[in-house]
Amino acid sequence: MKEQNREPSICPVCGQSFSAYPALSRLDNATLICPDCGTREALDMMGISRDEQDKILGIIHSKYNQL
Ligand SMILES: [Zn+2]
Repeated sequence: MKEQNREPSICPVCGQSFSAYPALSRLDNATLICPDCGTREALDMMGISRDEQDKILGIIHSKYNQL
């Protein structure tokens, strides 16, 4: 029996622990952040507002939950 045991990381941006693969922050290209914050940064760069970011993340999460 093989158990995947990824140690949870703490995201320095939102402070939440996450066990998914981290995203690389575009701000300094060195900090590992949670996938949600990675998505937010990408949307930020496109000039998407916080409100829209929340909506998009909500859609992403609902899609993941369907898998
Ligand atoms: Zn985060």
